[in-house]
Amino acid sequence: MGRIVSPSKVEVPHKWFNILTALNFDIPVNLPPERSSDGVSVQLPIELVRQTVTKKRWVDIPAAVRAAYEKWRPTPLLRAEALEKYLDTPARIYYKNEGVNVSGSHKLNTAIAQAYYYHRAGVRRLVTATGAGQWGTAVAVACAMFGLECGVRMVGTSFHSKPYRRTMMELYGAEVSPSPDPITKAGRQFLANHDPDSGNMALAIAESLEDTTRDGFTRFCIGSGELYSILHQTIIGLEVKGQLSMLGEEADVIIGSLGAGSNFGGIAAPYIADNIENGKKVRCLSVEPSACPKLTRGEYRYDFTDSSGLTPMEKMYTLGHHFATPDIHAGGLRYHATSKLISALYHYGLVEAIAVPQTDVFASGALFLRTEGFLPAPESAHAVHGAVLEAIAARVDGIPRTIVINLSGHGYFDLAAYQSWHDGTMVDINVTDDEIRKSLSQIPDVKCIL
Ligand SMILES: *Cc1c(COP(=O)(O)O)cnc(C)c1O
Repeated sequence: MGRIVSPSKVEVPHKWFNILTALNFDIPVNLPPERSSDGVSVQLPIELVRQTVTKKRWVDIPAAVRAAYEKWRPTPLLRAEALEKYLDTPARIYYKNEGVNVSGSHKLNTAIAQAYYYHRAGVRRLVTATGAGQWGTAVAVACAMFGLECGVRMVGTSFHSKPYRRTMMELYGAEVSPSPDPITKAGRQFLANHDPDSGNMALAIAESLEDTTRDGFTRFCIGSGELYSILHQTIIGLEVKGQLSMLGEEADVIIGSLGAGSNFGGIAAPYIADNIENGKKVRCLSVEPSACPKLTRGEYRYDFTDSSGLTPMEKMYTLGHHFATPDIHAGGLRYHATSKLISALYHYGLVEAIAVPQTDVFASGALFLRTEGFLPAPESAHAVHGAVLEAIAARVDGIPRTIVINLSGHGYFDLAAYQSWHDGTMVDINVTDDEIRKSLSQIPDVKCIL
C-alpha cells in the first residue's frame, strides 16, 4: 500500500481557480444551432453562467458546497511505492484518489456545486442523461443532499449491463429509466427506426430535455465538459499542490484520462497557469483511448457536442459528431470530442496527449490493484497506464521525475470488464484514417451556418 500523505493537514480550498485568467488567448465562442430543439432550452442558473465568463481569478466555493466537500475531502494523495518498485523506476509516482466518495468518481465535485446552484435558483427537480452511470450516480447523490428530485436517463445497454449503478441511484431516490423510452416522443421516433439496444448519449440527452417540459420546476443539467465543471474540478489540482508542497515535492508530470476533459483540466489547471506565468515546466499529459482519439487524431474545428445537431457548435478537437465510437469499456471516455478549453490548451501547446489501447490500460489497472491495493475505474486506468509508460521512460533515460496521477474513480462496478481482460476475451479496436476522414466530412461547414 502507498504511504498516505497527511491529507488531514491540508484544508479544503475555499475557492476554485479560474484558469481563463492565465491565458493570453480567448476560447472561441459557441455558434448557435441552425435548427432549434422544439423550444426546449437549457436554462442555467445565473451563477453557473457567470462562472463561464468571469474575469475573477478565484471563485468562492459556497459554504454549503464546501461543507459537503468536507465529508470526503481533501482526498488522499498517496505515493505508489510498490508500483515504483515493481517498475524498477527512478521516478516517484503519486496518485490523487478521487474514487473515495460514495459516487465513486470525481464527478461528484461538480454535481454538488451544480445541484446547489439549481436548488438556489428555485428548481425542484433535476434531470440528466448518463452513459455508463457515473455522472447519473453523482447527480443522484448531489440531488439528495439538497432535497431535489432527480431523474436519470441511462443509455439502455448500460442500464442492462450495469445494474448496480442503477441500484445506487435508486437507493438515493432517483428515478432511473433506460433510453430509448417509449414514453418520450424522441424515444418513440427512435424506436420506429432503430433497434432498442442501439440507444446512445445523444438520444438520452434528447429524452431528458423532453422531461424538462413537463412542469416549470424541472431543469436539465449537463455533465463534464463545461467551463464551470472544469472550474469546480480545480479543487483537485489545488489540493495536490498543497499536499506536494507539504512533502517538499514538486510535480514534473501531471497525468489524467481524457473524456470531456474535467478530471484532467481540474488537476492540471493550476499547473498550466504556473507554467505560463512563473516559467515553470510541469508537463501535463492527457491519456485518451486509441479507439476514440480526439486530440491525437481529430481536427480542431467547429462541431456539435452531440449527434442530434441541435446543440450550439463549439470549436474543439473532434472526430465528428456522427463518429461511431467503438464500444470500449471506459464508457466515460467515449465522447467524440473534448471540451473547448482542453482543445484550446492543446492547440496552443500547453498540454500533451497520447492514445492507448484498452488491453494495455486494463493490464496497468490490474497491476495497480496488485501493487497498491486499489482498483482504478477503466477511465482512470488510462491515467495509470500513462504513468506506467512515463515511469518506464524514466528507467530508460535514468532521469528521476515526480509523476502525479489523477485517479478519477474506482473500478468496483466495472468488474465484468476486468474479468473480460483477465479471461483474454477483450480486444483492441483499431480506428482507420478512412473512418475518421469520413466522419469529419459529415460536419457541416461553419460558413453555411453563419
Ligand atoms: C466520466 C469519467 C471520466 C472522464 O470524464 P472527464 O470529464 O474527462 O473527466 C474519467 N474518469 C472517471 C472515473 C469518470 O467517471
